[in-house]
Amino acid sequence: MKRTRIATVLQDSQPGEVVNVRGWVRTRRDSKQGFSFVEVYDGSGFHGIQAVVDGNVPGYEHIKEVTTGASVSIVGEVKASQGQKQRIELLAQDLKLIGKADAEHYPLQKKQHSFEFLREIAHLRPRTNTFGAIARIRNTAAAAIHEFFQERGFLYIHTPIITTSDCEGAGQMFSVTTLDLHKLAKSNSEVDFSHDFFGKHASLTVSGQLEGEIFACSVGECYTFGPTFRAENSNTTRHLAEFWMVEPEMPFYDLNDNMELAESFIKHVIGRILERRADDMQFFNERIDTTVLDTLQNIVGHDFIRLSYTEAIDILTQSGQKWDYPIEWGGALQSEHERYLTEKHFKQPVILYDYPRTLKPFYMRCNEDGKTVRAMDVLVPRVGEIIGGSQREERIDMLELRLKECGLDPATYWWYADLRRYGTVPHAGFGLGFERLIQLVTGMVNIRDCIPFHRTPKSADF
Ligand code: ATP
Ligand code: MN
Repeated sequence: MKRTRIATVLQDSQPGEVVNVRGWVRTRRDSKQGFSFVEVYDGSGFHGIQAVVDGNVPGYEHIKEVTTGASVSIVGEVKASQGQKQRIELLAQDLKLIGKADAEHYPLQKKQHSFEFLREIAHLRPRTNTFGAIARIRNTAAAAIHEFFQERGFLYIHTPIITTSDCEGAGQMFSVTTLDLHKLAKSNSEVDFSHDFFGKHASLTVSGQLEGEIFACSVGECYTFGPTFRAENSNTTRHLAEFWMVEPEMPFYDLNDNMELAESFIKHVIGRILERRADDMQFFNERIDTTVLDTLQNIVGHDFIRLSYTEAIDILTQSGQKWDYPIEWGGALQSEHERYLTEKHFKQPVILYDYPRTLKPFYMRCNEDGKTVRAMDVLVPRVGEIIGGSQREERIDMLELRLKECGLDPATYWWYADLRRYGTVPHAGFGLGFERLIQLVTGMVNIRDCIPFHRTPKSADF
């Protein structure tokens, strides 16, 4: 017997075919006439399939234990469905109860659960409509990301997760050590990392960019797509301590090339999701955020707005809005400011560029004005910053000056500086937060629900 995923059965099978589906019971209804309807879901698509199980079908003697959450294998004949909901259903020929799910204790009841509650049962939440759909959207998005770069000849580079340099210079890193923390706790002396596993202080990476640049300046356009870690103690709906980042890096690109790539990248990935996950997207649009499809179609169908940080400050100052954080040239833009620009003022994605030098890391190229750097942030509705990028500083003297300005030791970055010493080229790149993309696409409010198992302050279960 051919095993088939339910999505394939729903899409391709013809009445009369006999198929075997396996999955978990969503619901069971018993009719008074001695047969039951069992809806089975296997995660292959948004919809489960309904099986009609007659009283004389082998296995029916266990029907009372075929409860929500139990696993079953059903062989059945494909029939045109009587009901309105689906094209086809199964007329069961054989029912096997594989694993029971005690109806009294199964945590996923038919009623709507809050997302907060579902985070506490993250091992079961992928069985719900919402989290099954998010898992499929993540998968489709990841595939579309690889496609986008592969079609353009970019190399996928695997950069290290353990590192001894802090890319952002922001000091938000998790330490990696094999030192005995109990002994350290008892001694008052300074930690001697020479005895540590790597012989120096090591951390989890905050970005693969610096290593990405090495490859961009050797083998050409490339990208990384991997986990990154930031110990930022901010309990926001947009920050995770562990998140996935996509970081392309391109030699011989300036900031405009970088903006163009970022825009076509976002459009490509969203376009593919709309094409390939229409069933899941319809669900998000109906149940999570009724504007999400409009927002995405608007993003795909229009040019992104480009304006400088300075122009943005002017717009924000003249907006007449009341802000929690005051606007001032040189100050960081807060989420409220970013969202005002993209949601209210332009109602479209906005690429802001040329940020004050004091706000940005050492590796961004300094402008002639001495005050700004060739940074760019892509801002989108509801999420705010989804991409941060820049043209990189390719001049060795400026780079060393900037390292010192940022309080970093140029000696630590000797290999990064070497790229400027030997055959330097103008180059650029950006980082896209994968979970923020998923937030944008699904309309989910909290980024913790956009990753299978979230790591945030005081939370690293599962
Ligand atoms: P923010 O200002 O929102 O904290 P950032 O400027 O620190 O972000 P970058 O260093 O520019 O972020 O990182 C590139 C991208 O990675 C961001 O545009 C965002 O999409 C994503 N990102 C950054 N920090 C996080 C985080 N803690 N959780 C999830 N995604 C993040
Ligand atoms: Mn940023």
